[in-house]
Amino acid sequence: MKAVIIGAGIGGMSTAIALTRIGWEVEVYEQVVENKPVGAAISVWSNGVKVMNYLGLGEQIAELGGRLEAMAYRWMDGRTMCDFSLEPVTLQTGQRPYPVARAELQAMLMRAWGVEKIRFGMRMVDVVSEDDHASASFENGEVATGDIVIAADGARSLARDYVTELVVGRPLERRYAGYTNFNTLVDIDEAVGPADHWTTYIGEGKRVSVMPVAGNRFYTFFDVVQPAGLPYERSRAKDVLTEHFGHWAEPVRHLIGQLDPQMVNRVEIFDMDPFDTWVRGRVALLGDSAHNTTPDIGQGGCSAMEDAVVLAIALQTNTLGVQDALQRYAQARVERAGELVLRARKRCDVTHGADPAVTQAWYDELWDEDGTRVIAGIVGNIVGNPLG
Ligand code: FAD
Repeated sequence: MKAVIIGAGIGGMSTAIALTRIGWEVEVYEQVVENKPVGAAISVWSNGVKVMNYLGLGEQIAELGGRLEAMAYRWMDGRTMCDFSLEPVTLQTGQRPYPVARAELQAMLMRAWGVEKIRFGMRMVDVVSEDDHASASFENGEVATGDIVIAADGARSLARDYVTELVVGRPLERRYAGYTNFNTLVDIDEAVGPADHWTTYIGEGKRVSVMPVAGNRFYTFFDVVQPAGLPYERSRAKDVLTEHFGHWAEPVRHLIGQLDPQMVNRVEIFDMDPFDTWVRGRVALLGDSAHNTTPDIGQGGCSAMEDAVVLAIALQTNTLGVQDALQRYAQARVERAGELVLRARKRCDVTHGADPAVTQAWYDELWDEDGTRVIAGIVGNIVGNPLG
């Protein structure tokens, strides 16, 4: 059996590895000419790490992961609001989470499957499901054919329009979540936060975070509430951040001072209402193409990893044909993935002041947080994952 996978992101590569492990022939097509992931790092929570373990990549992900032991919130003036161990997350879920540099995760997944086999520079322009095969056509005129096409083509998925058009009748729209995220990697600097902590400064519906990844580096990000589509030049990163955070605590200003503007990514944050049409015949959506989420609970990539393993199990264990197996994959995933999108949206609104009274209540709570509520939230995102 043969799968054509569109997209060599976290979802596409996890799927390529998972399907190869169950004996499928796999081809991966990626539009970019080389691996240049957007975004500095991601937190791979326990559910995502479990998928990596299941795919035989446990040691590799652990090597990339920062030693994240604790979490702290600080008020924008630098006062500590709360500081607590994250060990309960590991104990309650059975797996330590790992923040990792995105490019390193991506490279690790590509190496694990075989980077030399990935067809780079192949932009899919059309996809179609026929009775006995599915195919994807590319800008250069080539056509790839398989028993199934897995569209792991990301948040702006082209395949999504094809898969949903008979049911929805119009392209599904993404929704601006109201803020823009600036992110990069910096050397760990304990003036900003302890090396083993995820430290977040909050106030005014904004936040600034640092969390450790391997190699003595912090993944750092700044959330700025602003309209979408503002003009921006990369060289202005420090000016923009100073405009928004210049009156915050000294460690935040110090952090901005350390940034290399050319290395700061700027991402306008969008998500999409959950929808349940993920499959059309032999074509299935996977990852952000099926569930585009805000990053506020750090679960988009983990959810794509979950999709990969559920898809492989569905194809391996069902015998009524691949179309039936794809439907069962979707049935197993739609509810959980949609729930994570909505949980992230809720968290996003609270963090970014969608309703100032609600955000103020959250700030008030954090001054006497002992970790219990925050950990219950994190664990709540992880439980219900397909690997237990
Ligand atoms: P993508 O990573 O977008 O990959 C899609 C691939 O398909 C791309 O390589 C693209 O070039 C290719 N492609 C697209 N169209 C075509 C085409 N027509 N032809 C060929 N190739 C095509 N998730 C977490 O789990 N934890 C986090 O901490 C976290 N933090 C985040 C922070 C930010 C600021 C953002 C924006 C996201 C974050 N996420 C996080 C979410 C995570 O990045 C995504 O959910 C994840 O990358 C989705 O993987 P994917 O493979 O589905 O899509």
